[in-house]
Amino acid sequence: MTEPTPPLLAGHCHCGAVAFTLPDQSAGVLACHCEDCRRRHGNFSAFLATPIGEVTLQGD
Ligand SMILES: [Zn+2]
Repeated sequence: MTEPTPPLLAGHCHCGAVAFTLPDQSAGVLACHCEDCRRRHGNFSAFLATPIGEVTLQGD
């Protein structure tokens, strides 16, 4: 019997030129309400935080 493949999180930039995948369990969500983030994004910001070695990038 083979081990089940862990689920992946996947996404891409707005134009689709760069895509990423990372193991679902590796990501934590950070939310920031600082003034800089609110000014840049128009509201608070939410980010995925994961070790860079677990991210696979595709594209230019
Ligand atoms: Zn911030």
